[in-house]
Amino acid sequence: MRIPLFKRRGGDAIDPVCDMAVNTKNPPGGTWDHAGQTYYFCGPGCNRAFQREPEAYLSGEKKMKM
Ligand SMILES: [Zn+2]
Repeated sequence: MRIPLFKRRGGDAIDPVCDMAVNTKNPPGGTWDHAGQTYYFCGPGCNRAFQREPEAYLSGEKKMKM
C-alpha cells in the first residue's frame, strides 16, 4: 500500500519518514527523488533513512517517531 504525498497550504510537504510537515522551499533535510516523486525531509537523518529503505517507509512498514 502506498501512502500519498500530502500537500498542505503554504507549500509544505510531509516527511515520509516521520510524518512531519516540511517547507518545500527550504527543506531542512534536503530532498530525494524516488520513483519520479520528490520527497522532502525534516532533517538529514530522515533523508538517509529514506534513501536506505524507501519502500519500507512508503509502505508504512517503518516509521520513525520524532
Ligand atoms: Zn523527518
